[in-house]
Amino acid sequence: GRSLVRGRRPSPRPKPGVAAAPPMSFVSWSAGLQRVVDALADGLDVATNAPVESVTAAEPGAVHRYHLVVGGPTPRTLDVDGIVLATPGDVAARLLRHLAPAAASPLTQTDRASVATIVLAYPRRVVDALPAFRGTGVLVPSSVGSLLKAATFLTTKWPQLDHPEWYFARLSAGRAGDARLAGLDDDELLARVRRDLRTFIGLDVAPRHVHVQRWPDAMPQLTVGHPDRMTTARAALPAGLTITGSSYDGVGIASCLTAAARAADTLLDQLAELDRAIPSTRPDRTAAQGDTPA
Ligand SMILES: Cc1cc2nc3c(=O)[nH]c(=O)nc-3n(C[C@H](O)[C@H](O)[C@H](O)COP(=O)(O)OP(=O)(O)OC[C@H]3O[C@@H](n4cnc5c(N)ncnc54)[C@H](O)[C@@H]3O)c2cc1C
Repeated sequence: GRSLVRGRRPSPRPKPGVAAAPPMSFVSWSAGLQRVVDALADGLDVATNAPVESVTAAEPGAVHRYHLVVGGPTPRTLDVDGIVLATPGDVAARLLRHLAPAAASPLTQTDRASVATIVLAYPRRVVDALPAFRGTGVLVPSSVGSLLKAATFLTTKWPQLDHPEWYFARLSAGRAGDARLAGLDDDELLARVRRDLRTFIGLDVAPRHVHVQRWPDAMPQLTVGHPDRMTTARAALPAGLTITGSSYDGVGIASCLTAAARAADTLLDQLAELDRAIPSTRPDRTAAQGDTPA
């Protein structure tokens, strides 16, 4: 709807005799991606800063099937009927270690890359004439060896960031097999990516504002054999527990949303099946749920 915006993405110049491809563009939300998180959380009971520390199966005959120990500033325990484990794979592996070791083991085999983004704001009148900023960004292949992996010229790319006073750019650093990020503090990181930016596009202006955001271990590296490992893991999960997220079904928000819907459907089917198998021992679930979080 109105809250969606399309980013600018210059189409390549058509080659003579070749039909031009339709112009492509990126899509986001005019108020930022936080809008998606807010919409997903709307109407749910969400506890933040509340890491699950353990998941155990309840005693046979117990009202609920699983027992969760939740840590953080307000530790508590929860008894629940079903679980969608949407944590990173290494966390899921730890939580499933005793409950489902054959499911946990394949989940430990996915490497993860740490990345950082650095958002910079330049006084617009100082950088506006820079030819590179007519494009929407640069991508740097790993063969170049630079710390800078990509630069997105936000003000050119997104209409909502076309600000009269400021020009915004976002730099990305860190990729699979490159451990340099962890050894740099924010100032060193900034100095290195600014140097790369000078080399690649000739920008030698000091930014007026900087925000460094680190994403440790955020990018699962789905290598050859990954789908088979996930099939093995899922086959070993107990009924009433599913896994979903970028560690399992593909990095990228579209993949995560599709996989999450599938995981929820699977869980509901399993719960219905379990209820059919043992109808008499289970009280009405809706009445018994208490403070079960969404
Ligand atoms: C810098 C960056 C840029 C990206 N850009 C794009 C993009 O432009 N387009 C795109 O499609 N994708 C992009 N991605 C990828 C996309 O953001 C991710 O793949 C996606 O958000 C992963 O979602 P997820 O729910 O699987 O994992 P996460 O969002 O990592 O969620 C996992 C959650 O589990 C929680 N958790 C961890 N341990 C516990 C515990 N013990 N108990 C309870 N909770 C726990 C964490 O706090 C976290 O909230 C980007 C990723 C990064 C890092």
